[in-house]
Parts: sequence; structure tokens; C-alpha cells
Amino acid sequence: MVSLNSKIEEINAVAKKISPKLKKLGVERVEELLGYWPFRWEDWSRVKKIAEVEANTTATIKGQIELIQNKRSEWKKRLITEAIIDDEGEKIKAVWFHQPYLVKNLSQGDWVYLSGKVELRSDGLQFIHPQYERLSRYKQGTMHTARIVPIYPLTRSLTAKQLRYVMSQAIKLAERAKEWLPQEILTKNSLSGLGWAIKQMHFPDSQNHLNRALERVKFDELFLIQLRARLAKESLERAKANRIEFRETETKEFVESLPFKLTSAQKITGWEILKGLDRDKPMNRLLEGDVGSGKTLVAGLAIFNVILNKYQTAYMAPTEILSRQHFGTLGELFKKWPIKIGLLTAAEQAMVNKGKKRASKKAEMHKMIGEGKLDLVIGTQALIQDKVEFKNLALVIVDEQHRFGVEQRKRLKNKGDGGKIVHLLSMTATPIPRSLALTVYGDLDLSVIDEMPLGRKKIITQIVAPERRADKYQFVLERIKAGEQVFVICPLIDPSDKLGVKAVKDEYEKLDKKIFPNIPMGLMHGKLKAKDKEKVMSDFLEKKTKILVSTPVIEVGIDVANATVMLIESAERFGLAQLHQFRGRVGRSEQQSYCFLYTESDSAETMRRLDAVVKSDDGFKLAEADLEFRGPGEVYGVRQSGYRDELKVAKLTDYITIKKSKAAVEAIVGKDAELKNFPLIKERLARFEESVHFE
Ligand code: ADP
Ligand code: MG
Repeated sequence: MVSLNSKIEEINAVAKKISPKLKKLGVERVEELLGYWPFRWEDWSRVKKIAEVEANTTATIKGQIELIQNKRSEWKKRLITEAIIDDEGEKIKAVWFHQPYLVKNLSQGDWVYLSGKVELRSDGLQFIHPQYERLSRYKQGTMHTARIVPIYPLTRSLTAKQLRYVMSQAIKLAERAKEWLPQEILTKNSLSGLGWAIKQMHFPDSQNHLNRALERVKFDELFLIQLRARLAKESLERAKANRIEFRETETKEFVESLPFKLTSAQKITGWEILKGLDRDKPMNRLLEGDVGSGKTLVAGLAIFNVILNKYQTAYMAPTEILSRQHFGTLGELFKKWPIKIGLLTAAEQAMVNKGKKRASKKAEMHKMIGEGKLDLVIGTQALIQDKVEFKNLALVIVDEQHRFGVEQRKRLKNKGDGGKIVHLLSMTATPIPRSLALTVYGDLDLSVIDEMPLGRKKIITQIVAPERRADKYQFVLERIKAGEQVFVICPLIDPSDKLGVKAVKDEYEKLDKKIFPNIPMGLMHGKLKAKDKEKVMSDFLEKKTKILVSTPVIEVGIDVANATVMLIESAERFGLAQLHQFRGRVGRSEQQSYCFLYTESDSAETMRRLDAVVKSDDGFKLAEADLEFRGPGEVYGVRQSGYRDELKVAKLTDYITIKKSKAAVEAIVGKDAELKNFPLIKERLARFEESVHFE
């Protein structure tokens, strides 16, 4: 007996045949197959009479094959299959290309459905390469035509027909899917039952039923994501952390020592963070602020107080270049205080800012960390991974990275510290809209820096058409002669890119040989070795090179105050939020900066999108605009942050469903945070967590 738990192979012979391919898609058991949703549906449900069919439309008809044969087309001698279909005397022709075996599947006298495009040719109307399905007295209903047809994501040599056929068999078990949502939630939110929804997702009876099924599946996804985040939050509330008392006098002194005044947003967010630390429960906070809004300094306030409380801080940056940069910045910030900072990088290097002022061996640095001789340690992820053991770590700061799970935190070891959990401050320049913050990041508290330091000049942004290229290069040359520096960003490395994307190497060659032959340039891309990257970056920082041609790897965090021109090739290929991030690499000083968006495309859509970047310098607005243009998966790198597998059907723009599912989560967790009375939900959540792959 095939059950939901059975392997797919057990369904039938076709299933056996395609099971290796499905396995590659992560589908092994029947239950997983039933959760392999179509990504869209084609509505072929209205069956027309042949007489009703019109040219240049799509249609579904039913008829009997009067004739079917292979032949060579007159034009180009292509192999085609031709059929004449008859419906009570009305006839229409159908042609298929390169499918000679069709004459074996379909024979004269067969009754068939055809669905597809109809065009007018010299000898009358014809179906061009339609979907077909034979009627049979042994078969009920249809799978590929004459209904709302599911369209699945496929792989090489897994055909839609095979998958639909296997699905049509598996679907008989849908009713056995265990309903895990309590009746109360179903009723309150007018949701359909799970078994019914699964059936309708794959083979909907009507658009209405499909919508109802979609509503149920979206609710489930959003409910589970939010439930997990909520429980993570709950478990932190029960955990213990080292309390960091706010030291008012010293903090004031520190702030007064700075060369500028804090913006009020920096004050507010700084205060939120200090309050979060001043509890014996772990803080879990996301500090969000546009590029250049001064997040490092806000982090500095927290670090300062942690150190005054005699604890250590770890500061993680995504790259070595950024780690080095932070080491410099924070050393400068704390130079009047006896604060010892270590820089730990993968390249067998370690540095300490005070005291001996020399590069130490890694092992020596580890020892210093373990003995509490360093107050602040800066580095990449490796910092908290390998053997590094802290004496009394209390705060971890994660720069430009969104996630850092509860599990990862538990792995951070303190010597002799009775299982306390560290406080966490994540920082990002990616504007995250509320709907995303509420769902995917629901376990985080949010602090937002919503203003820029005074005195920044607005970056002049322009769309540059191909014929204006030369003028701009002239302008760039003038900026370089004035001592300033330039970034050039190109989308992909591969020069054989068919879409005509400017490859970074080609671009470098072109600029180096033809446009700026006497200007020293650097080339940066993700395939360079870490050491080479460092070299390219430090040459640029030290102004040895004037132009840096790069793939998007440059996006995050880099601070080169002397760079004033950002030139972006094939700008239409990037998301608006991403363009805004690139632009944020310049405009970091009092000098006027420029951002040039090069594009060969003149489609209205491209122009509207790029125009939004020209008009707005508000990262949040651009992110929202992006959400409309491109959808959330693209924009927020939900994929990159490990959330690819969670939202299959739901979107972050499903505001109403987000709200409803959130209320349902609250009601349940509010009553019973351990889910003792909700074993089915607990079990479903466990399966969900298993199916989701984290970074
Ligand atoms: P980001 O938020 O992108 O990480 P940074 O922390 O790198 O921004 O700050 C960008 C620049 O702004 C730095 O050079 C920093 O010294 C400066 N800065 C930070 N806060 C202020 C302020 N209140 N007034 C003036 N300049 C500031
Ligand atoms: Mg930063």
C-alpha cells in the first residue's frame, strides 16, 4: 500500500523512472511530492467548438483525428507532424515540430483535446505546436488540457507530462494529509482543509478553488516562519545574559570626545541598544541604517559600555578588508581610552592596537583573547568559529549580515561562564520593509537610523545613454586629475555572456587600453584569491590606483572617502536597492560626488526603474519600489540569507495573510509557548525546520 510516507518509486512505473530526477529536487517521499507546488497555472478550461476558434488567440478544442502524418515543411524542409481534427464536420489543422514519434501516440480515429496558439496560415486556421491529450474511456478527467493546468519547475529530461501523470496518482492520497492547524484557526481565518487545498493546488477545479487553496498554503508558510521566529524570541527571553550597566558619565565624556555631534537618530538607536544590554536577558537587535548613516559609531557606544563593564566584544565583518577598516576606525574612535583591540584575519595575521603595537602570531592572539587581555576583537566569521575561546564575551556585533541564529550563538564559548548567552547586535544597510521584518526577522528587535549626518552633499545621479559615454569619460578624467577616485561596477565575469552584459574583464581591458591609458587601474572580482583582493583594495585605498573596476563584490561597507564617482555598467541588470548601495560607496566626504548609470536599454520599464534611483536617495523608498518591480525574493536576497526554501508560494507583499497568520501565532504562543497542547503544530514545525536549509 502506498502511503504518504512511501518512496515515490512505489507509486508506479513512471514514478520509478523519474524518481532519481525528483530526488535531485529534494523530493523523495509521496508527501514531499504533494508539496512540490506548481509555480503557475495555465487556464485551458474553456473548451471551444472548432467553429468558434479565432486567429491569434489561444484555445482548447475537442475533436477526432481524421488524419495524422509526418512530412517535410516546404519552407526550410523542417520535419513536422500534421493532423486534421474534426468536430462534427468542422475541421482544423494542427502542426508539431520535431516530434515524429507523435504518429505513434496518436492515431486516426482517436478523440483528443488540443490546447494552444491558433494562427491563420495560407490554408486556413491552425494550431501551432499545441498541447494534446487523448480521451479514453478508462480515464476520468484530463491532466494536460481542457482544465486549469499546473506548470511545475522541471529539470533536464523530467517532462511536464511525466510529472503531471505521477502527481495525478499521488494526489489520491492528499486527503490523508494530517490537518495540523486547529479547527479554531481554520474557522477564524476561513481557511480550507489541508487535503482539499493540496488537491486544488495541483489540479484545481476552478480559479476560485485555486485561490482558496493558495490562501491556505500561503497561510501555512507564513504561520510557520513566524511561529519559529516567535519561539526563538521566547527562548531568548528565558535565557540568561551578562547585564551591561549603562555608564552615563563616561559615555557622555566619550560622545564629547568625538569630532562631530551625534545625529538624533544615532542618539535614539544608541539608547535603545544600551537599554537592551542593561538586562540579564540576551538582546537580539537589528540596527538598520542607510549606507553612511553612521552605524559604526552607534556600535561604538555599545562596545564602550561593554568594556566599562569589564566584558569583551567580538565584531564580525563579512570580509577581511572591512575588518581591517573597522580596526582602523574603532582604534581612532577609542584612542583616548585604554582599550585594547585585536584584529584577527585568516591570512595568519593578528594585530593589536595598544601596547606592543606589533603583529602577533595567531596562537598568541588566541591566548590573549582567552586571558581577557583584549577588550575588542575584530575579524571575519572565523573569529567565532575555530578554537577561539573568550574569557568573558558579552556582545557580538555582526556587520552587514542579516542572520545569526540562536544555535550559532550557543556555540560561542566563554571560559567558565555558566551557559550565559551573548547579546547580539546585527547591522545592515539593506532597507528592510516592515512586512519582512515582521516575518523572516520576527525574532529580532529593530532599531532604525533614519537620518544622515549633516553636511553631506546629495550625490548627483544621471542615466547615461550610449552616445553620451565619451563626454562622461572626459568628466571622469577631470575628476581623477583633481585627485579623486572612481569605481566602475559591471554585472558579470563571463565574457561569453549572451545577454550582452559588460564583463568586468573586458571592461577593464577596454578602459585600460583605450579610454584611460595613462591612469593606474585595479580589477576586482569574486574569483580572485583573498590575498589578491586585499592587494587590489589596499592599492586603491592608498591611491596607487585611481580607478577600480569591479563586479558587485564591492557592494558592502567599503569606505573610501576619496572616491567621488560611481559608474555602473548595464545598470538595468541590478535591483534598485542594490544600485543605491553601490551609490553609497561615494559621497562619503564633503566633496560633490556623482553616480552614472550606464544602460543600453531604452525600454520604458528600465527607464522608470532607473529614474527612481535618480530621483530618490531614500533607500527605503527604493526598496519598496523594487518590491513592486521585481518581487521580494530578488530584492532582499531572501535566497542568499537562507530563506529560499521557506516562502515557496507566499510573498512578502501578502500583507493581509501576514497579519492574520501573525495573530494566529500570537494567540497560540501567548497561551502555550511550549506547544504542549498543540502536538500537531509542534510536529509540523519540526518537519518544517528539517526541510529548511540554513547557511
Ligand atoms: P555606515 O552606517 O554605512 O556603516 P559609517 O559608520 O561607516 O556608516 O559612517 C560613515 C561616515 O560618517 C564615517 O566616516 C563616520 O566617521 C561619519 N559619521 C558618523 N556619524 C557622524 C555624525 N554624527 N556626524 C558626522 N559624521 C559622522
Ligand atoms: Mg558600515
